Amino acid sequence: MPVHESADGIVVRVRDMGNGSRYLSLLTAARGRIPLLAKGSHSLHSTQSAVSQMYTYGNYEFYRKGSMNILKGGSVIEPFYALSADIDRLNLAAYLCDLTAELTDEGEEAGDMLRLLLNALHAVSRDLRPQELVKGAFELRAAVLSGYAPDLSGCAFCGRAESDLFCLDVMNGALICRECRAARGAVPRPPAGEDLREAEIIALMSPAVLAAFRYCAGAPLERLLSFELHDPEERRQFSRLCELYLLSHIGHGFDSLQFYHNLRAPGASAQRKPT
Ligand SMILES: [Zn+2]
Repeated sequence: MPVHESADGIVVRVRDMGNGSRYLSLLTAARGRIPLLAKGSHSLHSTQSAVSQMYTYGNYEFYRKGSMNILKGGSVIEPFYALSADIDRLNLAAYLCDLTAELTDEGEEAGDMLRLLLNALHAVSRDLRPQELVKGAFELRAAVLSGYAPDLSGCAFCGRAESDLFCLDVMNGALICRECRAARGAVPRPPAGEDLREAEIIALMSPAVLAAFRYCAGAPLERLLSFELHDPEERRQFSRLCELYLLSHIGHGFDSLQFYHNLRAPGASAQRKPT
């Protein structure tokens, strides 16, 4: 007799099999990612259809057959329909799900990553916060949850906690103050065609962006998005730096991120009023 199970989770990856079936990757709190086979879920009459969609958070019922988990059905808790109202929202959601799938494993607890993703999709789908803030906060916190936390307490060399201009030593996850940077002769430069894991990446960081980094690294998850960067240029710098930080530690980029950047309406963030 197959063992019947159920779990709350969100679909972070969908792969169509061509015969009306699809593989789902379900992110759950207790068991991390669970691979599910949804048979014939494309059929309009399929009871599995509603829960087999990307970005759907719900309760999933399944049973094990051999090495496969077979989806029986389930009920939708939050479908995040509003994501599809806007191409930027949808593309950002796709990238966040790609990141989540990359940074979680089958069978490993992922409660914080699940909450991080659900909170971010809630904000993105309802356009509650500027996308740069949601994206950056997600990327930095995902880095922290994955063991790549930067030490933001102060300069790695002299220990000072405040400086008019810090640099972030990306690969070492460390801050360098203006004075120590001058003494060391470290020159901020973007990575250019080098292996990200090998390159020394030193990025300038304004005091406001550093404050946002410190907030996002440690704030309670339910209040993660309750911070502000009023200057659109600082929002972009924050988003760029969080992306650079996380991707440098992961060691590769994502097609979905490139897609998001390529299709983003020019000036989309600049037109948004600070809230
Ligand atoms: Zn220093």
